[in-house]
Amino acid sequence: MANSTIYENVLKQLDNAATVLDLDPQIKELLQEPMRTLSVSIPVKMDDDSIHVFKGFRCQHNDVLGPTKGGIRFHPQVCEDEVKALAAWMTFKCSLVGIPYGGAKGGVLVNPKDLSRNELERLSRGFIQAISPIIGPDKDIPAPDVYTDAQVMSWFMDEFSKIKGVNTPGLVTGKPVVLGGSFGRHSATARGVMYTVREAAKAIGLELNGATVAVQGYGNAGSFSAKFLNELGCKIVAANDSKGGIYCESGFDPVKVAKHKEETGSVKDYVGCEEISNEDLLTMDVDILVPAALENQITEANADHIKARMIAEAANGPTTPKADEILFKKNIMIIPDILANAGGVTVSYFEWVQNLANYYWSKEEVDRKLEDIMVDAFEKVYNTHENLGVNMRVAAFIVAIRRLTAAMEARGWVYNGDKKC
Ligand code: NAD
Repeated sequence: MANSTIYENVLKQLDNAATVLDLDPQIKELLQEPMRTLSVSIPVKMDDDSIHVFKGFRCQHNDVLGPTKGGIRFHPQVCEDEVKALAAWMTFKCSLVGIPYGGAKGGVLVNPKDLSRNELERLSRGFIQAISPIIGPDKDIPAPDVYTDAQVMSWFMDEFSKIKGVNTPGLVTGKPVVLGGSFGRHSATARGVMYTVREAAKAIGLELNGATVAVQGYGNAGSFSAKFLNELGCKIVAANDSKGGIYCESGFDPVKVAKHKEETGSVKDYVGCEEISNEDLLTMDVDILVPAALENQITEANADHIKARMIAEAANGPTTPKADEILFKKNIMIIPDILANAGGVTVSYFEWVQNLANYYWSKEEVDRKLEDIMVDAFEKVYNTHENLGVNMRVAAFIVAIRRLTAAMEARGWVYNGDKKC
């Protein structure tokens, strides 16, 4: 049988929670399909004067809780199915952490490493022109994702502001602080990962001081997760990226490895470490595994070989539904993506609030508010997992769907018979 697509994985996750909740079929139907997906072609003048047409998408999954929100990914494997799945996960994630957003996601099929800086700028501006009719601070607010960063967000914001003739910092989040970005946004996803790992470790009685950690994908989410977990006392023993992986039994300094990657383009060849494959990293005998790269990394093919006690999903969708079942039976604690990596969108929400108010907060205030939200979300999910005897992913979806259901009922999107408010 062919492997399921990423969007089919989302539908299966929704289905699992809907069954436990005995969810109203009207709500399920509304959550099963995105509201809209815009497919665009972006002609870009290359440095040699030729024109290359790139393909991109923006998908808005559900806006019952507020304007839609989600990152934009530049990656050669982007496809409509992936963008739809990532948008749906944003709907559930925003609902779970209690922020007033729906879910969206965008992507462009490109390897940005093949472009010059000027070509990347023209592509970024072209993509925002193409999707400008459906985005805006009150409609849909983009952010960074794989292979996009604060510089790309700055071009997005600048281009949209020119199109509208109004300076619009609230269009995107993940901007540099000088353009209205928030303190703490750059590392917020990983800070949220760290708070949830800390709470999960308390729940399962895992001592973090000296706990070993392997990180798959040493980018924004992965490298900062390594740094913050190291600050909690964890020993980071393995990491990789698209070019290769490293292992060091006695642990390495995660900040020095990040610097090495910045200088050389990869974690590979970091002094004092052995080379390891991606599969070695995923199945390594460590206490905590942090997948922080792409989807479908932990599948039915390797789930049985996973030895970690805890998996903190910094990436979106790293574990397939079939792998979930295997890991649950092995009693591995999974902090599911929509919980573990929700720190990013939470601080994006703080950034947007600051932009709309034109009043800016200190880093301490951002971190404190983020910690409150992440700890509260973890407790809700963990209590649901304990009380209903369901795995952590089903529990996270249940918490999210309950809030979405209440909002849909209140807005009159579903017929609820004679039920009183
Ligand atoms: P990034 O571009 O900063 O880093 C991605 C890293 O993954 C890179 O180091 C890349 O080399 C590596 N990588 C790519 N393919 C790989 C492979 N096959 N094996 C191992 N490593 C590989 O991206 P990011 O923003 O850190 O995003 C990573 C994940 O985290 C994605 O799933 C993203 O959706 C999720 N996420 C990011 C944020 C955020 O705020 N950046 C928020 C929530 C979730």
